Amino acid sequence: MKLNRLFFILLPALIALLCACTRQQAMQTDSFYAMNTYVSITLPQSEKARFSSIRRYVEDIESTFSRTRPESDLYRVNHTSVTEVSPVCADVLLRAQGAARTTDGAFNPCLGSIIELWDITGKAYIPTEEERTAALAECDPLGYTVEGKTVTKQNPQTLLDLGAVVKGYAAGELLHALRESGIDSALINFGGNVALCGHAPGRTDGWRVGVKNPFLPDEIALTLTCTDTVIAVSGDYERYFERDGVRYHHIFDGSTGKPAASGLVSCAVVCEDGFTADMLSTALFVMGKERAYELWQSGVYDFEALLFAEDGKIYVTDGLLESVQLVPTAQTQAGVPLVLEKLEETF
Ligand code: AMP
Ligand code: MG
Repeated sequence: MKLNRLFFILLPALIALLCACTRQQAMQTDSFYAMNTYVSITLPQSEKARFSSIRRYVEDIESTFSRTRPESDLYRVNHTSVTEVSPVCADVLLRAQGAARTTDGAFNPCLGSIIELWDITGKAYIPTEEERTAALAECDPLGYTVEGKTVTKQNPQTLLDLGAVVKGYAAGELLHALRESGIDSALINFGGNVALCGHAPGRTDGWRVGVKNPFLPDEIALTLTCTDTVIAVSGDYERYFERDGVRYHHIFDGSTGKPAASGLVSCAVVCEDGFTADMLSTALFVMGKERAYELWQSGVYDFEALLFAEDGKIYVTDGLLESVQLVPTAQTQAGVPLVLEKLEETF
């Protein structure tokens, strides 16, 4: 009798628990093209009314940081020596300057002249050494100051380019705002910068995100299972041209004025902060695995990384070892199997 009563008291709780375990929150995705890339936002279907304000946010970011729109803050910075910018722009420029310092110029927000000279997806030109030297004179990574809303460039010719951080920054800020407003599950993808929180429908361990095989970019090399974070990927397969069997890609080394040749072909960074994730994916690509390891060890930034080396090895930092799953058939173009290795001081 007593047992029976207990059963009836516990029954509603049991049913609620079972429902919670099996309930799959229906999700809806809005996809559009912005900031030169595909953006897709996945939210619980019940929140789809937010899609229009999210599009407006992305439009605001684009019209602040576009290098080509004359009304943008960044356009004004690039076409005058001293100018006032919006608080958002001032904040990103300050952070970019801090990052240029911390990465010793591997992340260089002032590389515009080099980026224009090569015009990787346009005229695809291989500049002469004289041309590179002349352009590099305009690319001091610390070539501007920010005081309040005023940005001052030391060299009027210096061109800022924030293409290496704006997408991750926007994805991270958007995720933060959505979480603050009570959304418990979301996936935001800004062309290779994925910000996520909560769990994918039917999962209890977050989201499973595929990372491209840089050797065969139509295929996935591995998956990462994580949540409440941003994943940024920078690879030499994203934008490049080839001449005489050499690939000239879009991530430049500010010490040479040439596409970075650090032995890495792609870097994925996992970090709670979107700006930092995107900045580091570019910076680590330029630094190569030895300097990347030192930066990771130093603790200046709290991040984890996957470094794809040109020989097919994938170096993984400690914090990701549990969440990475290699696709068993993943290989290089030449058929060399991709292998995971712990990133440590073995070099
Ligand atoms: P990402 O895809 O995040 O690595 O960003 C690459 C973009 O950042 C390029 O298309 C350039 O606009 C810019 N960029 C290239 N090299 C660098 C660098 N060393 N530091 C900062 N920005 C860079
Ligand atoms: Mg980046």
